[in-house]
Amino acid sequence: MIREAPARHLWRPYTQMRRAPPPLEAVATRGTRIVLADGRELVDGIASWWTAVHGYNHPHIAQAVTDQLARMPHVMFGGLTHQPAERLAARLAALLPGDLDHVFLSDSGSVAVEVALKMAAQMWINRGVSGRTRVLAFRGGYHGDTMGAMSVCDPEEGMHRRFGAYLPDQLFCDLPRSAAETTALDATLAAHRQTLAAVIVEPLVQGAGGMRMHPPEVLATVARLARHHGLPLIADEIFTGFGRTGSLFACEQAGVVPDILCLSKALTGGTMALAATVARGEVFEAFWSEDPAAALMHGPTFMANPLACAAANASLDLFETEPRLAQARVIALRLADGLESLRRVSGVADVRTLGAIGAVQFSRPPDLAVLKSRLLDRGVWVRPFGDIVYLTPALTIADGDLDRLTDAVVAVVTDLGSSAA
Ligand SMILES: *Cc1c(COP(=O)(O)O)cnc(C)c1O
Repeated sequence: MIREAPARHLWRPYTQMRRAPPPLEAVATRGTRIVLADGRELVDGIASWWTAVHGYNHPHIAQAVTDQLARMPHVMFGGLTHQPAERLAARLAALLPGDLDHVFLSDSGSVAVEVALKMAAQMWINRGVSGRTRVLAFRGGYHGDTMGAMSVCDPEEGMHRRFGAYLPDQLFCDLPRSAAETTALDATLAAHRQTLAAVIVEPLVQGAGGMRMHPPEVLATVARLARHHGLPLIADEIFTGFGRTGSLFACEQAGVVPDILCLSKALTGGTMALAATVARGEVFEAFWSEDPAAALMHGPTFMANPLACAAANASLDLFETEPRLAQARVIALRLADGLESLRRVSGVADVRTLGAIGAVQFSRPPDLAVLKSRLLDRGVWVRPFGDIVYLTPALTIADGDLDRLTDAVVAVVTDLGSSAA
């Protein structure tokens, strides 16, 4: 078979096409390994952007998708429904806290965030309240790459700065560092509550914005202040959902029931594109009316794709039949232990872990190209960004593979620290 030269036609994500080294060609996945065309097998440290929580190629998900493919790969969702979607919505409603009962399905995390923003805005319009055109978001956050989602990402970060003129104008605040530090957020909310439609937060950890973690009390405080000022809280659990922080959903650890919650990433166990925006009864009621114009104005072509819903249902089966949360807790201990020695390494500013997330922060941004190639040389697939190296492995990862990941990160970061000194 003749292979095309890589990268001739494909425009790659976040990549300077002129300068970037060609991407590696993956030909297969097995468990927590990625097999490359040249025969190398890499231990995957990030589970394909945190999606593959059960490892790759889980036979139960493969079987469910195969069966669904033979029966009905897709039908439009306008005017039609089907069991895979009905079942998934009912199961998500049962698993999510409180009365988060109304599930809108879409096909990517960014779109789930767009739908959440639109839901909050239209909720006010439907209630006859005008002028609530902004959202309060937190510095350091990441909520996706589409225009609305970008507008609530960290305002200083490159992408946001570049597109500033195109984006809706939002309001930004620092996340409180402790439950006691409420003055700034409270004052901002008090000053702007009449113009705000919602508050959006990534519960317990700001992921792609820098793996910054906060204690459950801070999340509870944000939720309490949003409620106090009469604002719906949107929890973006696209990164944290499905066990990543040690509980099925991060909000549970703070006893918080957000008004709107976004899911995607691990929803299908890393196999298919699917996302959900889930609303509480009170939000849903604002759309429940005789007026057709009060209906939620959204409907992606591939929403509720039956293949993706079958994969998501199979993934939820695995959370019931296999000990995923217990595995996440073991990974938490092993990550904390495995990365601990880096605290004493020069050039390392911080080492932090939460559930099955381990992050090492450098004092100064390292040479990412060097870092990436040294990690590859050690047979691990880890993708540092900015000043962060992180691990978010599959929750099924074997101890030996997890050790290989932490050993590789420790060795490479130590090496880099001592060569810089
Ligand atoms: C990945 C991510 C998104 C965006 O999801 P996409 O599927 O890439 O559009 C939004 N919010 C958070 C917290 C994420 O981690």
